[in-house]
Amino acid sequence: MTIWKSFINFILPPRCALCGHIMKIDKGICDSCIANIEFLKPPVCYHCGHPLGEVTSQSNKHLLCGHCLKNKRHNFRFVRSAFAYDELSKKMILDFKFYDRTDLANLLAKMLYIAGEDIFKSGVDMIIPVPLHYTRLIKRKYNQSSLLAKELGKLSGITVDNFSLRKIRRTKPQVECNGSARLKNLKGAFSVKYPDKIKGKRILLIDDVLTTGSTLKECCVTLKRAGAKSVDGLTVSRVLR
Ligand SMILES: [Zn+2]
Ligand SMILES: [Zn+2]
Repeated sequence: MTIWKSFINFILPPRCALCGHIMKIDKGICDSCIANIEFLKPPVCYHCGHPLGEVTSQSNKHLLCGHCLKNKRHNFRFVRSAFAYDELSKKMILDFKFYDRTDLANLLAKMLYIAGEDIFKSGVDMIIPVPLHYTRLIKRKYNQSSLLAKELGKLSGITVDNFSLRKIRRTKPQVECNGSARLKNLKGAFSVKYPDKIKGKRILLIDDVLTTGSTLKECCVTLKRAGAKSVDGLTVSRVLR
């Protein structure tokens, strides 16, 4: 550790992003809080990544959830998330998103890398973060998904593209919409600026939270229209059904 870093640690000791306790080593989250996070462990739906609960059949390796069995047409190849969006993880995500805990990007990207195993095994050519409209970016100063994508790019060695996919229309925050209104709110909100970069590529989309999946879906449709070969979605947390 450099002298400068020791000095910073002395006057501003690292604190756990969840409980606020001082940590000897800066890991983002303390050990006892990590133990309380609900990581989404297998078995999960092979397609959408939703946890399947108790599974008795061992015969089929690629199990699907009821939702995916009913809706056979998928735009996505795979969707995966690292942990459940609950009271505990909500605090961490909100701090990361709105309250400058950008230091968490590295830790969260490591979780993404583990959760996205099926995706990376199947091959990814390019990582793209879900974009913010520029007016929101100015207000918030940074795009949390871009920070995650950057760290994930370093871990995986895969190129990150922050410019090809754009949010061209301001939308109401998704939390203010219900059900089908969420999809409607985002219709035509994204556009591909450089289709040549997307054409024939296997794209991995990154976002912080998956609620109903409307944002990822709209980005996916936009990328597919621009000629993407496949699109996967990987999020840090996910609201469980
Ligand atoms: Zn803690
Ligand atoms: Zn599913």
